[in-house]
Amino acid sequence: MKASGILFDIDGVLAHGGSPIDGAVDVLAWLTRRRIPYRLVTNTTRKSRRLVVDSLAASGLSVPPEQIMTPIIAAAGILKERKWRATYLVDERALEDLPSEAARNQADAVLIGDLGEKFNYDVLNRAFQSLKQGAVLLAAHKNRFWMKDTEPLLDAGPFVAALEYGAEIKAELIGKPARPFFEAAVRSLYEGRAQLGPTVMIGDRWDADVEGARAAGLLGLLVRTGTYEEGDDQKGSPDGVLDSVADLPRWLAG
Ligand SMILES: [Mg+2]
Repeated sequence: MKASGILFDIDGVLAHGGSPIDGAVDVLAWLTRRRIPYRLVTNTTRKSRRLVVDSLAASGLSVPPEQIMTPIIAAAGILKERKWRATYLVDERALEDLPSEAARNQADAVLIGDLGEKFNYDVLNRAFQSLKQGAVLLAAHKNRFWMKDTEPLLDAGPFVAALEYGAEIKAELIGKPARPFFEAAVRSLYEGRAQLGPTVMIGDRWDADVEGARAAGLLGLLVRTGTYEEGDDQKGSPDGVLDSVADLPRWLAG
């Protein structure tokens, strides 16, 4: 056995466009039977954890909420720990995971996730003005794009980059590939238990998932589903490349 615990990316690995990836349901059942703990580590910012649970369930994947990590949940923890009040460029479907918003002119931070078609000049300019007044930019992630069926769509990353450029600041990254995000997931995996072997992260993004995990001391597996594009397997140094998540048990046994 090559791993004592598994971290899964969700979109493009376990599910895609509201359907499970072939084999995903069986792989989670297989891990449960073998008592190999796993967590779902997603960069999604357009859903609360409750809605992530619901959409997984609609795909036939039954995962309890405490086994799901999102950057919005992590951000809520950071705000609480630092006693910060923030303003949010966050989809309204994710707001239930966050404390109430600060007044515009006294924010310690601006939290930015994927607002999709609700990104506009006014929204970005207000965030820019907060940053000019000294607020810290907390970026849920800097993913460049995501795949809606076969169509690539702009994700939060390019908007984070625009604010960084305009305000001449650097965002603090919360989700993948930030090391503290992976470390929190690993702590959750082994709570109260000895970690006997390596932890494997399996994702469809060679950078945020695979190289991010490797930089945090995990093994990184790349799958050829989801946002995977031809040649991505040459871009980093994945510990393994699988056609899909269905091949995970074979890889672990190999
Ligand atoms: Mg993904």
